[in-house]
Order: sequence, then C-alpha cells, then structure tokens
Amino acid sequence: MVHIPRVTENGRLGPVDSSRVPRYGGAPTFALLPRLDEAEAAGRPPGIVVAGVPFDSGVSYRPGARFGPGHVRQSSRLLRPYNPASGTAPFAQAQVADAGDLVVNPFDLGAAIEAVQAGALALTAGGASLLALGGDHTVALPLLRAAVERAGRPVALLHLDAHLDTWDTYFGAAYTHGTPFRRAAEEGLLDAAALCHVGTRGPLYGARDLEDDRGFGFGIITAADVYRHGADAVAARLAARIGDRPLYVSVDIDVLDPAHAPGTGTPEAGGLTSRELLEILRGLRGLDLVGADVVEVAPAYDHAELTGIAAAHVAYELITLMAQRRADRDGAGAGDGATGPHEPGDAR
Ligand code: MN
Ligand code: MN
Repeated sequence: MVHIPRVTENGRLGPVDSSRVPRYGGAPTFALLPRLDEAEAAGRPPGIVVAGVPFDSGVSYRPGARFGPGHVRQSSRLLRPYNPASGTAPFAQAQVADAGDLVVNPFDLGAAIEAVQAGALALTAGGASLLALGGDHTVALPLLRAAVERAGRPVALLHLDAHLDTWDTYFGAAYTHGTPFRRAAEEGLLDAAALCHVGTRGPLYGARDLEDDRGFGFGIITAADVYRHGADAVAARLAARIGDRPLYVSVDIDVLDPAHAPGTGTPEAGGLTSRELLEILRGLRGLDLVGADVVEVAPAYDHAELTGIAAAHVAYELITLMAQRRADRDGAGAGDGATGPHEPGDAR
C-alpha cells in the first residue's frame, strides 16, 4: 500500500500528504494520521491517541455502533490539518496517532468493560490523552475509570447526549449504554461540583429519572436551552462551572438532531445542529481536557455519511482542544509552532 506520511514543519508525523495521495485512497486511519506504530517507529510517541472501540453489546434499541469506528474514520478523510476556528494546526501542535481498535469481547460484557479499561490505560501509559471512537455508550464507564486513574482525582464530566444515561438497570443489567454515568457516580469517578448534561430531550420513564440525576450532582442544559440561549452562552456557562478541573467530555452523537445524525441507535427529535455542537466544543478552549469519546455512531442507519462526517468533525474539535492545551502547558518555547502558518498550496 502506498503510504506517505507527512512530516509537519516542527517535526511531527502528520497526516498523509493529500497532494500526493488522494484523500479517498490510502490508509484508513482517522484523518489520514499515522498509525501508532508508525509514530513510535519514527521516534514520535504520541501526545494524543485516537482509538476505536467496536462494541455495541450494551444497547437497548437499535444495534450497530460496533461499526462506528470504521465509519467515522472513513468519514474523516476530508479533515484538513489547519483548524481556522481555533487558528491552530492540531496535528502539528501535538503528535497525534491512530492506535486502531481495542480488542473487545462481544459476548461477555464484563470482560469487554475490563478490556476497554486496560486498553485505555495502556494507550495513556506514556502520558498521552485518549480520544475514543465508539461503540455504544457503555464504553464511557471504563474510559472514565482509566481517565480518573491517570488524572489521580475525580474528573469533571461534560456529557453531550439526548439522554441522561444515569438510569439504574435494564432487564436487571447494571452495565448498559443507558447507565454508565450512574455507575461512574457510584464509583466516585466524578467531581460532583462540575457535572453537566447538554442536549437532553425527549420522554423519560418518570420524574424520578430527573430526581435521581440531580442527586448525583448533574446540571442539565437541554437541547431547547441551547436553542434559546445559543452555543456561546452555553459554552461560557460550562467553562465557568468546570474551571481548571480535569475534564472528560463524552459525546453521544444522538445529541444531534436526527436531521444531522440519523445514523444512531436511539434517535430523539428536536436535537442540536452540528453547528451548535461544534461551537459549544470550540468554546471550551483552555479547559484541561484529559480524555474524550464520541460514541453511538451506527452506520447502518446513516445516510450520505451525515452522521460519520458530524462525528469526525466533533473528534477533530476535541483533538484541537487537547492539542491546544498541551501546547499551552508545554509553553511557547517548546517549539510546538502553536499557530503554524497555513500552507496554501498543500493538502486540499
Ligand atoms: Mn443518547
Ligand atoms: Mn448515551
């Protein structure tokens, strides 16, 4: 296979040079980034790792999110290296690499959760931040466990989703895609002073769902609140609440309206636009994002890659936040080229 990684001007191993290899060909990594083994072989251990979690044995309605990672990677081929919204080149600010997919048992949910946790810990052992591509939302629990172990303290959680995902059990099962944040709260993983759902909507089983959720400390900014107050105001409110706590961001793609993300397992009408979601994420610049996931992309229900493209752009903004934070932390003298110039003749 032809694979021509591009060295960024400050020596990172960047995406494949799309002036030499067409974007629709070549390696199917996220955003045409180098594989983890390529980055390591080049002496460039990553600061940010992208990994897939192809698992959907925890779903309550439509299955299919196990095919999410491959679909998001395919839909990420058109992402370019310079982000004009932030004025930064995230793949030059930090070494970013694609670790492929974690190996997850589809028949044993307990073993799967353990494998995701162990995989996340292994990928972050050298200090890298992890961006996971799901998979159903069950995987957020082991990802949070790993992030908390690395952070050394409970984390702030920003949860963007149509649903609360703090339900207790389904059919007696405690570990499902509707329960990860209740388990996380019970396990003491979350900083109760800085928890927020954004984008919730749709019918619940009863008022008790909301009472239980409040009891864990969550604030709620509904999809209607986003519409009424706007993305900038919402992001400012979130940033003020989170402060300088270590932050985990979990994005269930069903936070978007089905018009923007039909390819998901439990769609609800009246959701965010992809523009609103991207702007909220951009408004989190400067926060200490220690880990993130983008989950519940189920390509069998997608049309024209709407959902895959939205998820790819969400992942790109999350990587931008992680890379910016790393560059700020490492200081301007670290040679990170924090605002590397746009290269007009390159990589369309
Ligand atoms: Mn959801
Ligand atoms: Mn969810």
